[in-house]
Amino acid sequence: MTCNHHNCDYSKYENDLCIFHCDKQEWVNEDYEIDDTLEKWDKYKIEFFWEKFNSLEENQLNQYIFPYFSNEEYKKDEVSFEECLFLDDVIIKNYVKNKLEFNNCTFKSSTINIKNDMEFFIFNQSLIENNSCVIEIQESKIINSEISNLKNKFCTFIFQNCILEKCKFIKSETKVLNMNNVKLVEKSTLIIENIVVEKFYLEKVSQKADYIQFNNIKILKYLKFHKIEFANTYFNNFNIEEITGSITIDKTSFDGAKFNLFLWGNISKINASRDTFRQLKYVLDEQEDYIQANNFFVMEMKKYKEELKTKSGVYWQDKLIFSINEHISDFGRNWFLSMLWFLAISLFLLNILNLHCSNDYNHIFPYSISLFLIYLGSIKNKLFNITAIMLVFNLYYSYMVDYNSFNQFANFLNLKLQNEFKNYSFLWFMHKLLASFVLYHFVIAIRRQTKR
Ligand SMILES: [Zn+2]
Repeated sequence: MTCNHHNCDYSKYENDLCIFHCDKQEWVNEDYEIDDTLEKWDKYKIEFFWEKFNSLEENQLNQYIFPYFSNEEYKKDEVSFEECLFLDDVIIKNYVKNKLEFNNCTFKSSTINIKNDMEFFIFNQSLIENNSCVIEIQESKIINSEISNLKNKFCTFIFQNCILEKCKFIKSETKVLNMNNVKLVEKSTLIIENIVVEKFYLEKVSQKADYIQFNNIKILKYLKFHKIEFANTYFNNFNIEEITGSITIDKTSFDGAKFNLFLWGNISKINASRDTFRQLKYVLDEQEDYIQANNFFVMEMKKYKEELKTKSGVYWQDKLIFSINEHISDFGRNWFLSMLWFLAISLFLLNILNLHCSNDYNHIFPYSISLFLIYLGSIKNKLFNITAIMLVFNLYYSYMVDYNSFNQFANFLNLKLQNEFKNYSFLWFMHKLLASFVLYHFVIAIRRQTKR
């Protein structure tokens, strides 16, 4: 009497089905309180099952139903599980010599743990029914690994302490994708493609790979890059724009990385060192993405500001220059701000000059207030405020003096000291000195934004 399952020649065991195809519903002791242990299974039936299973000749196993699966020694050269159902945890340790393949399998497991050096590891179209399932590939040296169509947005996938050669992780949606302490050997390739994950962690990935490709990656909550070299790494549509949690980039080198559409989103969320921002700026500058490079430059400066805050004494010059750069042109990003500063300085000095000539000191107070407000506006970077204050300032000024003297005084190209300013050569000189400094910032900012 053989099994009723299609094309199965094994003898019947339960409900007209063989030991491999029977549903095993009665094998579990329902009263047993501890979940996820071998002990909840009927000991004798399990032993009998594995005795039969280990004596199997074939390599392709179709629609088998497995109880708790644990195997700790080499049993096969290769095995392929096709549409199998795993009722409990799957622990595989050195089970196959060459190839381990799962196709269209269903897992009720909370743990799938694989520790096996092999040539091929394929995990395709698997249905993970347990939402807290952790799939972990550990301490394995795998030449070809391919994980595809893994769709359970609550499960976790981990590569830990592995040596990989050709690895693909594609078309999947998981809660966590974590590669921790992974070595990519010489001429290896790593392709991670069409992935949506909540948390993406890459830690301690050392590599001599031909290339690493990230294609169409979307990360929703956390991103962590720690101790990785992204040489020969292509970021093709890598989207961290909508991350709600944190982004950490630590001890990571981007030297040799290629960014083809990296959607950074709000980069002020990124926890990274000044050096990381400097590298990102450098790499993006090299790839002529000046806008994003400038954003990283600003982050680099912010980090530098934090560094300077913790220092004292001889760093006062650095602090002063830093502060001036920030306020005059927002580190060469804001040409309009530096232009306003030029007008403000010119008007202010000319006003002092006129006050001296007329001996009328009534206007010192409003001018000082105006300049102070502009300074405050520049700190908060509210361009609209500064412009508004400048306009009021200008109108107020034009009400008092004629523009002609302003033109002569502020004309930067006219270096010859005018007769009417002869007695005030110091102010004239001060203006040229300060104006040249501000105009230098103006030119830098214009260049940054028009560089092609
Ligand atoms: Zn059967």
